[in-house]
Amino acid sequence: MATNDTENNVVKPTNFIQQIVDRDLAANKNDGQVQTRFPPEPNGYLHIGHAKSICLNFGLAERNGGACNLRFDDTNPEKEEQEYIESIKQDVEWLGFQWQGEARFASSYFDQFYQYAIDLIKAGKAYVCSLSADDARAYRGTLTEPGRNSPYRERSIEENLALFEQMKQGEFDEGAHVLRAKIDMASPNMNLRDPIIYRIRKVEHHQTGDKWCIYPMYDFAHGISDAIEGITHSICTLEFEDHRPLYDWFLDYLDVPCHPQQIEFARLNLNYTVTSKRKLKQLVDEQIVDGWDDPRMPTIAGMRRRGYTPTAVRNFCDAIGVTRSDGVVDVAMLEHALRDDLNQHAPRAMAVLRPLKVVIENYPEGQVEMLKAPVHPQDESRGTRELPFAREIYIDQEDFKEQANKKFKRLVLGKEVRLRNAYVVRCDEVIKDEAGDIVELRCSYDAETLGKDPEGRKVKGVIHWVTVEHSIPAEVRLYDRLFNDPNPDGHKEADFKDFLNPESLTVLENCRLEPGLATASPQQAYQFEREGYFCLDSKAAKSGQRVFNRTVTLRDSWAKIEKSSES
Ligand code: ATP
Ligand code: MG
Repeated sequence: MATNDTENNVVKPTNFIQQIVDRDLAANKNDGQVQTRFPPEPNGYLHIGHAKSICLNFGLAERNGGACNLRFDDTNPEKEEQEYIESIKQDVEWLGFQWQGEARFASSYFDQFYQYAIDLIKAGKAYVCSLSADDARAYRGTLTEPGRNSPYRERSIEENLALFEQMKQGEFDEGAHVLRAKIDMASPNMNLRDPIIYRIRKVEHHQTGDKWCIYPMYDFAHGISDAIEGITHSICTLEFEDHRPLYDWFLDYLDVPCHPQQIEFARLNLNYTVTSKRKLKQLVDEQIVDGWDDPRMPTIAGMRRRGYTPTAVRNFCDAIGVTRSDGVVDVAMLEHALRDDLNQHAPRAMAVLRPLKVVIENYPEGQVEMLKAPVHPQDESRGTRELPFAREIYIDQEDFKEQANKKFKRLVLGKEVRLRNAYVVRCDEVIKDEAGDIVELRCSYDAETLGKDPEGRKVKGVIHWVTVEHSIPAEVRLYDRLFNDPNPDGHKEADFKDFLNPESLTVLENCRLEPGLATASPQQAYQFEREGYFCLDSKAAKSGQRVFNRTVTLRDSWAKIEKSSES
C-alpha cells in the first residue's frame, strides 16, 4: 500500500503508524489534528538511527497536514551541552525538516512538572520515600518475585507535601529522599512498582541554572511534556513498550490538557555500525576519530561532511520502512541509496589519485587544446566542461603495467589505450629510477582519434588523466567502514573498539585534479570518473586546505568480500 504525497508528487510507502493516524483522522479523533514531536536528549550528536525517527515524526506531520515539535528532553541536568543543542538543530534542518515554532525544552516545564507532582501527592498517588538506594532495590523484588511496600508508603498527604517542599528547598542530601508514584509493588511490570518521579540532584542545569535541586524522571516528564504540547501521537522506540502503562497512568491521574497516544516502533540497527551516543562519544573523547563529524562516523554531521545528501538519507529511511519487529539493516542499503542519488546528480570530473607522469612525444611542445566533456553523461542539458590537453599529463599508477594479460584493460607497454574524453595513446617507453621504480612513461598519440575510433584496430580500455601544467593539487581521503565486524557492539567478551577497521582511512597527499575543481564547494558532490563520489572536506576548506573526501565507491567492494568468505 502507498499514500500519495501530492506536494512532491511521489508515492511514499505507508506503515502501521500511518494506518493508525488514518483511522484517527477518519474518526475525527484529536479534532482531526496530527501533532508529533522529535525529542532528543542533548547529550551527543544525532546519528543515522535518529534520522529514522526524524523522518518518521516530521514525515507523519507533513503528510497529514500536521506539525512536529523539536523538544530537547533535558530533564537530566548533568550531561547536556549547548554544542549538542546547536548540532541537533542543524542536523534536523539539513535533513530538510522544519519544526513548529521555536525549539522547546522539557526543562521549561519544570514548574508545571512540580505542580503536577504536588497534584499527585494531594490525590494520595505519590509519596516521599526515604529508603536507601540499596534497600529500595531489595524492596523492589525481581521479575519472578513481587516487591514489598516501602515502610514510607503510608505517609500522610501533609507529611508528603512538607517533605517534598523541603526536598525542593535543598534541605536534604542527594539520595536521602525520593518522590515515588503509588501504584502497585506486586505488578508484573517492574515499571509500575512505585517508580521514582523526582530525585534530589544538587547540580546546575544548563537552562535553569541553580533554580532546582530536584529533577523529574524521564517517564514522568515525557508524557506531561507531550500533553502540554498537545501531541496526538507520541512515537518512540520499542524499549518503551513496557513504559506505556506508566505513561498512561500519569496522564490518567493528572488533569492534563490531552492524553497523547504512545506508539512504539523498532529502532534502526545497522550492521558494521555503532549507534549509541555513549559509544560514539567514547570514540570522540579518546580521539579515535576526528570529532563527532569525522566522515567515518554514523552521525548526521559525519555523513554530511563525508558527502551524504539529505535526499539519500531520506530515501534510505523510506526504503527501510517502519515496523514493530527488531532487525538489522545492511549498511549496503544506505550506500545504495547514496549512490543512487549521487549518480543522478553529481557532475563528473577527472582526478588522478596516484599520479604517474606521461610525456606524449609526438604532441607539439607548448600546444594546449581545449577539449569538451559532458558534465553528466546521462543529462545533456547540464552542458559541457572544458578540459585542457597538453604534451605532459598524469595518469594513475594503477592504470599502467609493463606486462599484462587481456583482462587488464588499461595501458600496457607497447599497447594502446583511450584517454577519456581525448585521444588514443600508445606507450613506447618506460623510464625508471635507480631503484627500478617507474617514474615516467613516454607515449605517442593518434591525432585522428578524438571522438572517433582509430582506423583498423580496436582499443578497449579507457583511462582518466589530467595535464601536468593545468591540474590542481589536492589531498584525497579514502574512507572505508569504521568497523570490520558486522556487529561490533554484540560481543560479550570483546569491546566494540576491538573491531575498529585499521584501514578505515587512507590519505593520498599528492593527487591532481582537473582545473574546474578549483571552485568546488563542500556541498557539491562530484563523481571522479572511475574512482567514486567525492566532495570537498568542509573542515579542511575552512583552514584553506584543498582536501576531498571519498563519499562512497562506485560499486560495493564489500559485497565481493562477503560473498567470497561465504563460499
Ligand atoms: P542513544 O541510544 O543513541 O543514546 P537515545 O534513544 O538515548 O539514543 P534520544 O536522544 O533519547 O537518544 O533519542 C531521540 C529520539 O530518537 C527518541 O525518540 C529515540 O527513540 C529515537 N532514536 C534513537 N535511536 C534510534 C534508532 N537507532 N532508531 C530509531 N530511532 C531512534
Ligand atoms: Mg533516550
